[in-house]
Amino acid sequence: MIQPFLKAVPLLTELENAGYEAYFVGGAIRDYLLDRSIADVDIATSAKPAEVKSVFSNTVDIGIEHGTVLVLFKGTPYELTTFRTEAEYSDFRRPDKVTFVRSLTEDLRRRDFTMNAIAMDRGGSIIDPFDGRKAISERKIETVGAAADRFSEDALRMLRALRFVSQLSFEIEAETLKALTRLAPLMANIAVERKTAEFEKLLTGKSRCQSIELLINTEVYKYMPGIAGFKNNLVKLSHQPCSDLSNMEMWLLLLHYLELGQQESESFLREWKLPSKKIKTLLHHQVWLKYRLENEWSPLSLYHSGRVAVRDVERVFHVIRGNPISTEVEWLFSYDALPIKQRSDINVSGSELIAWFGKPGGPWLKELLGKLETAILQKELNNNPAEIKEWLAKCNLSSEKN
Ligand code: ATP
Ligand code: MG
Repeated sequence: MIQPFLKAVPLLTELENAGYEAYFVGGAIRDYLLDRSIADVDIATSAKPAEVKSVFSNTVDIGIEHGTVLVLFKGTPYELTTFRTEAEYSDFRRPDKVTFVRSLTEDLRRRDFTMNAIAMDRGGSIIDPFDGRKAISERKIETVGAAADRFSEDALRMLRALRFVSQLSFEIEAETLKALTRLAPLMANIAVERKTAEFEKLLTGKSRCQSIELLINTEVYKYMPGIAGFKNNLVKLSHQPCSDLSNMEMWLLLLHYLELGQQESESFLREWKLPSKKIKTLLHHQVWLKYRLENEWSPLSLYHSGRVAVRDVERVFHVIRGNPISTEVEWLFSYDALPIKQRSDINVSGSELIAWFGKPGGPWLKELLGKLETAILQKELNNNPAEIKEWLAKCNLSSEKN
């Protein structure tokens, strides 16, 4: 067993000592068997939420109606979910009702894919009633039980299959893929937030190109926010080399291939319900990407773009141009060498200028600071108070005094 599990073993032991069963389950087991790094360790237990809370002192209710309690154990939070089945899906999403059960196998049966339906006990023994290990060794994504039933129960599983293609470079098993292609329209019933969470993982996976191709071929894209009418644009995106881009860089690349204007981009990003701050950053990045596609950077554009945008834009620019990309963005050296990075770096303050010119602050001040900023960035002026004063006098700006 490896560290993240070892650290949580005492937690399983405590539950067992109290008379319950408890196992490691879900993505952590899959990733462990694949030798991938493990994000968080999830635990399934026969103990009901109230029982879990009676065993541990430090708990937070995070989804009690679904059986999930967060336990803080030696400084690490763990999600403990009671074994459950999910009965009666009437609207192709989330069950109407969950029923707590005492059987691990029943709990594993309700999970989406066989690779995600494996458990491990505290001694490291694997419990695998649906042959998840075989699927992992064959690099196959297949549903637990009949794919059509499982996708009809919760249509999000179809998008999850595509995001696992992207992250794990697995293939979707033939019957599962057939059902997925037929049932893609059920995706229309899924809440945007759930789609966004999976799509963001899909965007940054190693095999995103294959995954985007599948998104197109299965027509799942028609049920995703804002991209239904953009098949050709998505095809172009899928033909890009699958470079290792960050989440922000991928959204930026997507915006580029959708060929949207600023306003349309904003509505598009809002449709995905991304946080406002992220939308604002992406729109800023987009402006500078458009600039970069037609220009080299200059001291002024580097300055107004800002370090993060220079880095992200430059990497996306190279992907679009088909150049290799690296984490070492050359232009960042030029950015770092700029004499000022923000207006407050100018070695004269607004109040000093007000005092010097002897007139109250107003639009003139902003304009003047802008001129100083430009002159300093273009190396017409050194950023020191004496030279700035001299420059202001030479430019005859002090005549504004009167
Ligand atoms: P990741 O490593 O990205 O977290 P994961 O497999 O752990 O991948 P989660 O969304 O964290 O994915 O879900 C945890 C587990 O819960 C899954 O491994 C799967 O067993 C089960 N699961 C999650 N979503 C569904 C779903 N829509 N239908 C059925 N089972 C699901
Ligand atoms: Mg997980």
